[in-house]
Formats: sequence, structure tokens, C-alpha cells
Amino acid sequence: MDIEQFRKAGYQAIDRICDYYYSLNDKPVVAQVEPGYLRRALPESAPEQGEPWSAVLSDYEKLIVPGLTHWQHPSFFAYFPTASTFEGMLGDLLSSSTANPGFNWLASPACTELESVVMDWAARMFGLDRTFHNESKVGGGVIQTTASDSALTAIVAARTRYLEQHPGTPLEALVIYVTTQTHSFGKKAGLVLGLRVRALEVRAEDHWALRGETLGAAVEEDHRKGLHPFILIATVGTTSSGAVDHVADVGATIKEKFPSLWLHVDAAWAGVTLACPELRETAQLAGINEYADSLCVNFHKWGLTNFDASAFWVRDRNLLINALDITPEYLRTKHGDEGTVIDYRNWHLSLGRRFRSLKLWFVLRGFGVEGFQAYIRRCISLNNSFADYIRASAIFELITPPSFALSVFRLRPDASTSESASLDELNALNRAFVAAAQTQHGILLTQTDIDNVLCVRFAVGAARTEVGHIENACKLLEEVGMHCLAGKKV
Ligand code: PLP
Repeated sequence: MDIEQFRKAGYQAIDRICDYYYSLNDKPVVAQVEPGYLRRALPESAPEQGEPWSAVLSDYEKLIVPGLTHWQHPSFFAYFPTASTFEGMLGDLLSSSTANPGFNWLASPACTELESVVMDWAARMFGLDRTFHNESKVGGGVIQTTASDSALTAIVAARTRYLEQHPGTPLEALVIYVTTQTHSFGKKAGLVLGLRVRALEVRAEDHWALRGETLGAAVEEDHRKGLHPFILIATVGTTSSGAVDHVADVGATIKEKFPSLWLHVDAAWAGVTLACPELRETAQLAGINEYADSLCVNFHKWGLTNFDASAFWVRDRNLLINALDITPEYLRTKHGDEGTVIDYRNWHLSLGRRFRSLKLWFVLRGFGVEGFQAYIRRCISLNNSFADYIRASAIFELITPPSFALSVFRLRPDASTSESASLDELNALNRAFVAAAQTQHGILLTQTDIDNVLCVRFAVGAARTEVGHIENACKLLEEVGMHCLAGKKV
């Protein structure tokens, strides 16, 4: 493809994207294809000769789009949102066009400098203490691929710090602390690093949030066994129920009794609520500012920015660099040697990196802080109206109080049968309910398990969801729920 062919093809691709967004509301949320559909439709090998762009674009429309689950659909309520915006898309497009792995300052000064500035913009928008700002030159922010990468990076830095403070500690005695509600990345990090992971118990009466007291008892117990907990991953907005660990409480326990324990706050989903001053108390800003060693907020979930953009801040950048800096001759630069610039390759696991700050810059400029806040508040208000519907319903019940833009509920039989229904029967009923709701294609939601109770999650956040989509979802869930209770096939 030459430049003029690209110009034409590019315009066509943008037209397709616009058509896609115009038609999104009328599409089923879930792909209507069977496993293996694409392998059957595609040739076994790449073509020997290059094909015209028109043929490729036509196959994209014919073969790929039907196999997509539409995460940007306004009736997508599953998992957590990946709210994408045109500003973000354009950022990604321009970033692809420069195809620049900006791993150090010299590799493209704009990549490093924009990221450093935009992460400070985000830190200010979230009310983070100045220590976390790049400008402070003490801590700082970097955009990682995912929250899993952010947590893994934090664990590596925490391990290095701990081993420096406690030389001779056997690796097999190190323990990563999570809670039973932490995202599965905690266990995965343990697998990757070959380290023990302990999931601390949290209680229903605390709405599944961790308290300092539980942490303190666990550390003392492990110390008695000769084990060395070195990091706690606390969560603001857990995946299952949106629980918010008491960061201030656990932070105070750490500071007072176990100062070697690194506190990483995973606010991958709910961290964006820090943008709204009235939500900062719930989102534990004070605890984060006072006690967190690191924090992660995914802009690519509920933050209007196309995947991937996981914002990661550390209180002390030297701890990261100390753990991750390996500088062979071929990566040395004058400014790097002088320490006058940020070399982001030392702030994460990979070397090459995408120019992600461009899309975040476009989003923050396009929406402004007020536009960003308005969107977060709108999602929470839409979720509140969904939760009101569940509360008023005769066939559903909330399992936990709604958290930000997430409601967790379940179908319950009417009063006459509820007393006799066992947990297994209720779980089976709700599993059937989720499966039946998923066959409706007009919406998508998913299930979770909280303390052996099978529940249904309803997460608002797709950028184009309006009140009508919530009303439609309530109507559809009511119909499906009534059918399930009556034992009828939907
Ligand atoms: N943390 C929380 C609370 C999540 O809900 C998720 C994913 O949904 C993750 C972390 C993992 O995010 P990522 O895909 O960016 O690793």
C-alpha cells in the first residue's frame, strides 16, 4: 500500500468505524457464532500474493465483525466496562503511525515527556499526593499494559526492598498477601514468581472489605511460623462485588507494626471515581495518600480510554528502578547516565512500550476534568436506578450494597419456596438464570461467586449507556427471571 492508497483506505476504515458505532445499538451484544467458525472460513495459509485492500476490508466486515462481542454496546453490563472513545481511538491511530517503542528518553523524547506530564495530570485529577507526581522526582507515574502487570511490577519492587532490608530471607518464606476477594492476578503473580500467596479472609458483615485487625493477626501468625509477608495487595473496588478494603486502617496497621510490608492498592476499576471529590472518601483517597507504596488505576476499564492504559504510581521511584534497572552498553545514553531524564524501560518489565500517553492526553483534553467527572457520576446514577429496581422487585434481591457503578444481585424464589430452597438449589437457579439471560442477546451480564453464593453482576460503564438501556435491561431480566422461576424455557 502506498501513501495515497493508505489515505483512501484510511478514510474507508474510519467510515466503517462510524457505521459500526451508528449500528451498534441494533446489534446483538454477544457474537452469534459457533466455536471454530473463523478457521472454517479462512484459508489455511497466508496468500502467496498480496491482496487488494478492498478484499481485506470486505472480509473484516463479513467474517470478523459477526464474531465480535460488542463491549462498546450500550447494553453491555458484563465483567467491567472497557469504555472506549473516539479521542482514545485517534490517539491509538497516531501512536501506531509513529510505531515507536519509546523505551528511553532518547528513543523519542515526546513519548517519555508526554507520559510524565499526563500521569501528573491524572494524579492531580485524582487528588494524589504530590509525592506520587513525576514532577516531585521522588515518586512518579507510568502507564503499564494492565493492572496485572502493574501488580507484578509492584511485587518485584517490594521483594527487592524486603530482601535488602532482611538479607538472607529464604525466597520460599516470602508471602504475597491478597484477600479472598482480590482479582486472580494475585495468585497468578505468585505462580509467575514462584512465591507463596496467602488470601486473607474477609467477612460479609464488613461487605468483604479487609480491616487492619485481620491483617495484623495474619502477619503475626505468619511471623510465628517463620514466614515473611512482604506485600499486601489491597483493593478499591473488587471484581466480584466492588468491595473497598479499608486502606487507611490497613495502612495504619502496616505503618505502626510492619513497616517492611509494601502496600499496593489495586483500584483498577474503581480508581477513576477519585476524580470526583465527593467519592474520594469512599475510594479511600486519604489512606492511599498517607500509606500506599503503589497504586494502579486502569483508564482502559471505566476511564474512557481504549485498551491498554493501566496507570501505575509509586511513592518512591528509586525502589522501582533499583529492582528493574539493567543497563547493557547498547541501552546507555548520555542523559540516562546523568540521571536527568526518566527512562521508562526501568519502570516495568518489558523494554519496548507503546506510546499510550497520547490517547490518554487526547481523552483528558477532549473531556476535560469536568467531562470525565460527569461521565463517572452518570454511570453511578444509572447503576443506582438499576439497584432501586432490584430493591423494588419481587423476584430479585441485592446481595451486597451497590458499589459505585456495580450491582450484585440474585434471583430468589417467591416467599413460599425460599424457606425450603437450599443454597445449591438457589445457585443452580441463578446459574440457569444467567445462562437464559445470555441467550437473549439484547444485553450481556455475567455471574460471580461470593462466599459460595452464585450472584449476578451488573456493571454500568459503557460510554454510550443511557437510562433507556437500563430500563430495557430491567424489563428483560424480569421476563427471563419469571420464566426461570416458573421452570419454563426462555
Ligand atoms: N483488578 C480488578 C479489581 C479487576 O476487576 C481486574 C479485571 O477486571 C483486574 C485487576 C485485572 O485487570 P487487567 O486486565 O488490567 O490486568
